[in-house]
Amino acid sequence: WLSSAKISEEFLQESEGTEATSRRIIKIILEKKKEEKRAIELIGLTHKCATDYVVIEGTNADLMIRAFPMLSLIKSGAAEEKIRKELDAELKTAEASSDALEAVNAISGLKIKDKAGIFIGARMGRPEKAKMRELTGSPHTLFPIGEAGGKMRSFQAAMDAGKVTSQLPIYQCPKCGAKTIFPVCENCGSSTKKLYFCEICGEIDKPKCPHGDAKSYKEQTIDINHYMGTAIQKLNINVFPDLIKGVRGMSNKDKIPENLCKGILRAKHEIYVNKDGTTRYDMTELPITHFRPSEIGTPVEKLRELGYTADAYGAPLDTPEQLVEIKPQDLILPGATYSMDEPANEVLFRIGNFVDELLVSFYALAPFYNFKTKEDVVGSLVIGLAPHISAGIIGRVIGFSDTQGCFAHPLMHAAQRRDCDGDESCVILLMDALLNFSRQYLPDKRGSRTMDSPLVLTAKLVPAEVDDMVQKLDVSWSYPLEFYDACEKYLMPGAVKMDTLGTRLGTERQYEQMGFTHDVKSMNEGMNCSAYKTLPSMEEKLKGQMELAEMIRAVDAVDVARLVIEKHFLKDIKGNLRKFSIQQLRCVGCNTKFRRPPLSGVCTKCGGKLIFTISKGFVLKYLEPSISLAKKYNVPPYLKHSLELVKRRIEGVFGKEKEKQEGLGKWFG
Ligand SMILES: [Zn+2]
Ligand SMILES: [Zn+2]
Ligand SMILES: [Zn+2]
Repeated sequence: WLSSAKISEEFLQESEGTEATSRRIIKIILEKKKEEKRAIELIGLTHKCATDYVVIEGTNADLMIRAFPMLSLIKSGAAEEKIRKELDAELKTAEASSDALEAVNAISGLKIKDKAGIFIGARMGRPEKAKMRELTGSPHTLFPIGEAGGKMRSFQAAMDAGKVTSQLPIYQCPKCGAKTIFPVCENCGSSTKKLYFCEICGEIDKPKCPHGDAKSYKEQTIDINHYMGTAIQKLNINVFPDLIKGVRGMSNKDKIPENLCKGILRAKHEIYVNKDGTTRYDMTELPITHFRPSEIGTPVEKLRELGYTADAYGAPLDTPEQLVEIKPQDLILPGATYSMDEPANEVLFRIGNFVDELLVSFYALAPFYNFKTKEDVVGSLVIGLAPHISAGIIGRVIGFSDTQGCFAHPLMHAAQRRDCDGDESCVILLMDALLNFSRQYLPDKRGSRTMDSPLVLTAKLVPAEVDDMVQKLDVSWSYPLEFYDACEKYLMPGAVKMDTLGTRLGTERQYEQMGFTHDVKSMNEGMNCSAYKTLPSMEEKLKGQMELAEMIRAVDAVDVARLVIEKHFLKDIKGNLRKFSIQQLRCVGCNTKFRRPPLSGVCTKCGGKLIFTISKGFVLKYLEPSISLAKKYNVPPYLKHSLELVKRRIEGVFGKEKEKQEGLGKWFG
């Protein structure tokens, strides 16, 4: 096939300015044959297609001619006999070789190396995320409204009911004598006195009594309209938001609620409270060392104000396309507009407005942020905090990318004890945390009081103090040839001296003048929202995954089917079947859960109807997909038998429902 190639060489005259330059274009033209064309597809050789021909051009053509001496003979116009002789020699060499790479090398005048030594396959762990955090039930405030709030846990429902019964702290105002639940009297503004509760003596003024430790709270019924009324008066507003949501009960040790005013203002600004009193924005973490102003939507003038006076090469920063090195504690937050969730700039803008209104109308202080537009959020300080830890770090917002990731310096991610890729972190607007965070709100459970709360705050990032994994980060502008040679020999990483962050500790260069090896046009280009998030149902997600598995040559579709069934579906079905048999019952009216159904058959609290918490459909949902997937991809017999056994167990619980099973429709085949 190759010996029938036609090789053409053209010289194109290009006039650039006043100078005319000529550019050589070399083409290898080959007959379009099915099997042969597939071969050049498989080796990844770029080519163009005409009706009857395939054309290899430019550098690729040059390299082909060098790799196959026969092609250079054709190019030089050698006699047919000479070409035929060369072809025979090449075929002989190829046949004697043990593999393709050896064969190509035996023929070629160039040394051709394996494209990569070892390929590592990976599966998606989790889809990307950028979203304001909401607790279950999306409360605006940590204030208990008990059963009175209804299913929505709303203050409106509670106000209609008039009374709220819940466990709350006890205070008494020394000035006006009123009993209250707040440390400051909502009637006269004086500081109130804390009371305690003993089951025998009742309310006492000391935490201890002869009967032992008294509780700092008691179950009490409060006039919710009184508390809402005084809150509205304090905030000096006439109308309040349509829906303000609280929590069912307080889970902290002393049952301390938030002030209602905070809930009213949060609802007004459409933000939600987290268990420690702050509002959080959760994001997927991504490492970055350099950015271009155009990528993050921040004007150059603003960046100069923030200290970015020069670009990565030391030239003054003037244009949005210059490459700039990010400072270690700066953050580029998610500003994606195509996501189903709100971007960080909109959420932080509203949190800032909430904080300002809280400062002015609740604390009678001056506003702090004065945000006029979303762009004003740039320059604000935030606390960066990863789940499971209690140490936050101060960061500064410098812009918003059109992605769902939080781009920051690898050091910044390491300071949050993350390993820089795909983990999750969150930001809290600093003044929100300073005003509204309290350790006392945290649930009285093991772990809750030490994890995921900013108990300790780091103001200055010291590279020597963060997780040392980041010290292995290579920071040179290019890899030396020595590095590639060492890789080919599978030497240990220490064998080649590379410029790493660890070698710069304690010097000024630990924070700056880092390099990178592969540039991109824009961090905002590419696949920014995975299909896993946009496909609505599990069925579509799975079908998409199997479609890809069949298309990608490196993937064994049967093995993917086996893994999906084994690791996900079977576990789910077995787990859900077990959960079904030990499940609780739930009241449709008040959500109370019952471990066993009461004899009356209705809710003992409100008389409401009781329903299962786990439905039959929940158990059955992945059974049919697993069976049809197993059938279509002919998974190993052991797995098929496991599925059959699970099916029989399910039929043992629910009985055989042949017609209905058919009605569900098959996902595969
Ligand atoms: Zn008072
Ligand atoms: Zn007592
Ligand atoms: Zn009920």
